[in-house]
Amino acid sequence: MTKDIKTIDDFNFENQTALIRVDFNVPVNKSYKITDDTRIQYSIPTIQKILSEKGKIVIISHFGRPKGVPLKTHSLKFLVDYLSQKLKVSVSFFGDCIGETALKKVNKLKNGEILLLENLRFYKEEEKENDNFAFELSKLGDIYVNDAFSVAHRFHTSITVLPKFFGKKKCIGLLMKREIQYLNQFLYGKGKRPITILLGGSKISSKIDIIENLINFADYILIGGGMSYPFIKIKGGKIGNSLIEEYEKTEKTLKKIFHKYQNKIDIIHLPIDVIAADSFKNEAHTKTLPIDSIPNGWMGLDIGPRTIKKFCAIIEKSKTILWNGPMGVFEFQNFSSGTRSIAKTIANITEKGAFSLIGGGDSIASLRIENCDKKISYLSTGGGAMLDSLKSEMLPGIKAII
Ligand code: AMP
Repeated sequence: MTKDIKTIDDFNFENQTALIRVDFNVPVNKSYKITDDTRIQYSIPTIQKILSEKGKIVIISHFGRPKGVPLKTHSLKFLVDYLSQKLKVSVSFFGDCIGETALKKVNKLKNGEILLLENLRFYKEEEKENDNFAFELSKLGDIYVNDAFSVAHRFHTSITVLPKFFGKKKCIGLLMKREIQYLNQFLYGKGKRPITILLGGSKISSKIDIIENLINFADYILIGGGMSYPFIKIKGGKIGNSLIEEYEKTEKTLKKIFHKYQNKIDIIHLPIDVIAADSFKNEAHTKTLPIDSIPNGWMGLDIGPRTIKKFCAIIEKSKTILWNGPMGVFEFQNFSSGTRSIAKTIANITEKGAFSLIGGGDSIASLRIENCDKKISYLSTGGGAMLDSLKSEMLPGIKAII
């Protein structure tokens, strides 16, 4: 997957202006203090490498969803002090991302200097693959660098159209390189075995294709959370009022998987028991039930103790683990035990030498609740992009670099 893709290591940036597309869409509190700077941290090696070669840097990013309107609340200006401190160089800012004045500012940059431009999504053209907008942006750099993995699955102008204007002078940054390398361990079964994939959450329609692809490479596929109910239903189990998303579509795909991979189906492991609730709230009455015997009026909101034991035993013997999606409605304290147990177990075996890759906001949040996020080998910066990478197709943002 990586062999045809140029990285920043293939270029020398001396006297060159790098136009870097990053994802600095970081969570902030009311006073714009960054509450999680992972995405920025991971892009810093890319910026530093270019600075060390005496290149000039123009940073472009989106922030939130202003939907084509230049909203003060969505300005990237708040990042100037933070970036200047982190990078130990003074970072300048301009309140637009295209136009004559932006170009003048770029032309004034000296080697080793950084200019941060305003939110790309202040232009509605950013989210609509627009050639004119891409052309305007392309004037701002000599070499295009994409280091925004978390949006590499989107058909947005700065991701898929802009690189076309750079001929051979385009590449990925170090954050992107790392994400691709780590994901390849799962995609092509390159990681140490046993390889375990753990999928949870509720959006089964966005994850089901992954199963079809990974069944060829994984040793164990564990399905938890809302993902598991279509499997149980299709096998004739009673799931009561448990969450079931787009069942008809899912049923078709599942039947296909069961038929096509009859001899491999044993690698898919489903929960045995659930914590069922009589309503969708933290204070609901609960019962621990076999997952296929949930009566009407009850819904499974977490995996049960026998499932935790079974899943953790598999994780403990794994050498390479990927996890995306919670095991239950972990936002409710009373239904968070399954997700938190999985988080702790993955952290523990990582400390013992296994490789772990975790993506998706909820899974990462549960690691933070348990204070074990630092123990994980790699926290992916992209939930959706990570899932799309695990399907068979190359992400559009990566294809655009080739
Ligand atoms: P996803 O975006 O697909 O990773 O889904 C995450 C969401 O799935 C979280 O908000 C969880 O609360 C929800 N979820 C996980 N398990 C269940 C379940 N058994 N019933 C309802 N929602 C669930």
